[in-house]
Amino acid sequence: MPQIFEFHCTNPDCEFEIPSGWGYYMYAEADDGERIHCPHPGEMRRARDVVGEDASREELDHRTGFNTYCFCIHCETQVDLDLGRDEKACPECRSNAVKTIDELVDEQCPVCEAGTFIAEDTGAIA
Ligand SMILES: [Zn+2]
Ligand SMILES: [Zn+2]
Repeated sequence: MPQIFEFHCTNPDCEFEIPSGWGYYMYAEADDGERIHCPHPGEMRRARDVVGEDASREELDHRTGFNTYCFCIHCETQVDLDLGRDEKACPECRSNAVKTIDELVDEQCPVCEAGTFIAEDTGAIA
């Protein structure tokens, strides 16, 4: 399993951070289209709860996916996008100034523009 990272800015005065983890997570789509976070471990169990106990393998595949942590530079909002399915645009402001977590890491912090946004290895493995 991948290592756990903490994503944050090196500038102590800057509060920009993204939830720690792998930078992405599994979700399952509820009946109303809402994406429910399925945390590891037990993600398949949770996905079944959301999609339905009697869902076929196909339906389960169709209604689960991976959201990647992204950040809209325009409105400074963290957004989660399924890069395989979603348009790479901010759901809040429709800007396409959206960067994925991979594009943010080791670059200048988009919030304070003073620090560097880093992925710090916590040493933990999920
Ligand atoms: Zn935005
Ligand atoms: Zn910063």
